[in-house]
Amino acid sequence: MMAQFLEIKSGYPDALLFYRMGDFYELFFDDAVAAAEALDIALTKRGKHLGDDIPMCGVPVHAAEGYLLTLIRKGFRVAVCEQMEDPAEAKKRGSKSVVKRDVVRLVTPGTLTEDSLLDARRHNFLAAFAEVRDEGALAWVDISTGAFRIMQCPRSRLGPELARIAPREVVVSESSEAELTELVTDLGAAITPLGRAAFDSTGAEKRLCDLFSVSTLDAFGTFSRADLGALGAIVEYLDITQKGKLPLLRPPVVEISQAAMQIDAATRRNLELTHALAGGRDGSLLSTIDKTVTAGGGRLLERRLSSPSRTLDTIESRLEAVAFLVDESLFRADLRDALRKVPDIDRAVSRLALDRGGPRDLTGIRDGLGAAAEIAAQLSSVEPPRLMREADMFLTGHDALVGLLDRALVADPPLLVRDGGFIAAGYDAELDEARTLRDEGRGVIAGMQAKYAEMAGVSSLKIKHNNVLGYFIETTATHAEKMLSAPLSETFIHRQTTANAVRFTTVDLSELETKILNAGNRALEIEKRLYDSLKAEVLSNAAALGDAARSLAELDVSAALAELAASEDWCRPVVENSRAFEVLGGRHPVVERALRAQGGDPFIANDCHLADGSDGADIWLLTGPNMAGKSTFLRQNALIALLAQAGSFVPATSARVGIVSQLFSRVGAADDLARGRSTFMVEMVETAAILNQADDHALVILDEIGRGTATYDGLSIAWATLEHLHETNRCRALFATHYHELTQLAGKLDGVDNATIAVKEWDGEVIFLHEVIKGAADRSYGVQVAKLAGLPSSVIDRARIVLDALEKGEREGGAAQKALIDDLPLFSAVPVQAAPVKTAPSVLKEKLAGIHPDELTPREALDLIYELKSLE
Ligand code: ADP
Repeated sequence: MMAQFLEIKSGYPDALLFYRMGDFYELFFDDAVAAAEALDIALTKRGKHLGDDIPMCGVPVHAAEGYLLTLIRKGFRVAVCEQMEDPAEAKKRGSKSVVKRDVVRLVTPGTLTEDSLLDARRHNFLAAFAEVRDEGALAWVDISTGAFRIMQCPRSRLGPELARIAPREVVVSESSEAELTELVTDLGAAITPLGRAAFDSTGAEKRLCDLFSVSTLDAFGTFSRADLGALGAIVEYLDITQKGKLPLLRPPVVEISQAAMQIDAATRRNLELTHALAGGRDGSLLSTIDKTVTAGGGRLLERRLSSPSRTLDTIESRLEAVAFLVDESLFRADLRDALRKVPDIDRAVSRLALDRGGPRDLTGIRDGLGAAAEIAAQLSSVEPPRLMREADMFLTGHDALVGLLDRALVADPPLLVRDGGFIAAGYDAELDEARTLRDEGRGVIAGMQAKYAEMAGVSSLKIKHNNVLGYFIETTATHAEKMLSAPLSETFIHRQTTANAVRFTTVDLSELETKILNAGNRALEIEKRLYDSLKAEVLSNAAALGDAARSLAELDVSAALAELAASEDWCRPVVENSRAFEVLGGRHPVVERALRAQGGDPFIANDCHLADGSDGADIWLLTGPNMAGKSTFLRQNALIALLAQAGSFVPATSARVGIVSQLFSRVGAADDLARGRSTFMVEMVETAAILNQADDHALVILDEIGRGTATYDGLSIAWATLEHLHETNRCRALFATHYHELTQLAGKLDGVDNATIAVKEWDGEVIFLHEVIKGAADRSYGVQVAKLAGLPSSVIDRARIVLDALEKGEREGGAAQKALIDDLPLFSAVPVQAAPVKTAPSVLKEKLAGIHPDELTPREALDLIYELKSLE
């Protein structure tokens, strides 16, 4: 057996081998050590190899999915090796003969299909990147839905595109450089190198033609060599992982990168589009606005937010659908009710295609199409806008399939085909007959029991069934005596004596049992055959089912966005081909929601006008104290642009958005500690990317750029960056800074305006009004903010003194400043200007409050008295 294990394992050096042994998957050697640690299960040993113990661990087959999920999440891939024959077969070949085994599937992050391993509301993409000379191409597929896409993608665009698609796994050529690996792993995806042959464009073309049963790929679009390489590599990798059982792929759809708003990885992270900075999905834009009621709708909404459109026509038709559904609130409620009944058609079809489906996938499709027909009927009672009319076309025309599934299947079938009982009565005469025989047999048993009870004179006699004996007659030990002796023993054949019962059979009973069993088995056989033909029928409708699923998702997203707009009072943005950006009463959806949940102050709405033609400014330079709401204001405007182009209403009273080609958002290094590199370096690399790329239709959000280094360095960099954005990029930008010196630039550069966030000072305290107004902040209120944060009052008082000295010095010139600083008395817990009694008792008080006399030994108490004395 070990020889067999080692041979199979040699084919999968990079994967953990799940080696099937009876009811367990066992792992050996290093695989066992790694898996035991990752899964937190016991590591044992079994036998010896070359004189050493063989480490081993195992997981039960029935619970294997959960363990698989943990391993995949931790970055492993798993080769599942099954027994390919009944162990009895192997025994026939000889007592030493090993059961035939083979790997049936390689489970990797990008090739999951099990519902339990997938997130219903998220796509699970596998991507491949190919390069032929200077051309690059990126292909990606979700094998759980069959969606297959391709786009031209030069190396320089790979990072942003991968960030947009967010694949779980990326296939690259084994000859790719380390730089590429780093780019992929940085985005949190697994990387899989494949041999160069997998990317060969000639082979790929043939493979694709075979897959889609066409003689040329022209019908799907024009593909470059790099395109073919990437598409071919995906198909090749699926072949390897699924062991030849290819999932149902839709023909590849060509995506054009110019059609989407370009958003790079840092910006996505920063704006918390689909994931919050703290990790997890809570607090992200997506989780805040997602009101979809179907899994397919959830996935489509994520795609929309991840790639907002740049095409006016597309955006308009989406907005039109949302607007219609905002107005028609009753219709919307009915539509959403019907949508709630729609199961995940895409994933059901794909499971059926991979032979991992069951009766519930068939009923899912039946119910989904039923709901689709209901929705189509609803739509015919109104005059829907274009997008919804287009969706409507795919909702009907499935009557034949629905009729078939309706007739063939029971309402609530069991999960597994092998359990039987999912085909409805009356659908197949042969099945009905077998079932009748089986069930009648059961009825006959009841009669038999009465007959035998009378015959034996034992009224408590019962006929029972278990898996070991099948049907048997059972009586208590006291009654068994007479049945064990003649004449009754001629009829009742003894089978088994247990602690308190004796079990018999009879010739009639075993004959009947064989009949029941045969009929039952036959019924099951017939059900399996019918399942296969229903499955084939469904798969032959796969394309139409895909269209219906997409249409339902589209309607779900429109209705969900309408629901959101109505409940949160959002407005329809005007999106146009201009450079305007004019938002009145804008809000940050996530911060607003958080404030509401806390039940405290309401969110203060703010306006923003960039390049709207009135005052000409393209850039707002925003100053104001920390905690005033600068970052919130910056981000809310970026999100409003993004939502508008995703086809959603926006959190504002009105908004005019000239199409944004690229969206950039950066935060000064201090907020970005998690990444573990030199944070200032990261900040500068990211800023460089903006200055090199942003065009005049870009929207740029810069928050405290330059803060990661010394004051004058930082100020100079921020200054030069602002000038470059204004002079060279000529883009729209919001620039938040705490360098007050920058506000002078507004006077010098036409396109830069100062704005600040109003605060009120009251009784030495600062009150944030969160209101954005024109003009520069007069001061930064850092000391007041520090006080709010609970810095010890001695430190606050001291900071005020230093600040006064510095400000006075600045007013009086450099030499005076130095003299003033030199003159500052040294820090002491007792501030020079305050009366000593004011702070001293508080130190003592604090110390005293921390003492718990009951817990002190006499010795500790004495030490404390000395310590307190020294504080005086
Ligand atoms: P800054 O970037 O100026 O330091 P933030 O944008 O991080 O400030 O905002 C600090 C906090 O102030 C936020 O967490 C939020 O609770 C609150 N806040 C920000 N903007 C508003 C607003 N417009 N209305 C109400 N509260 C706000």
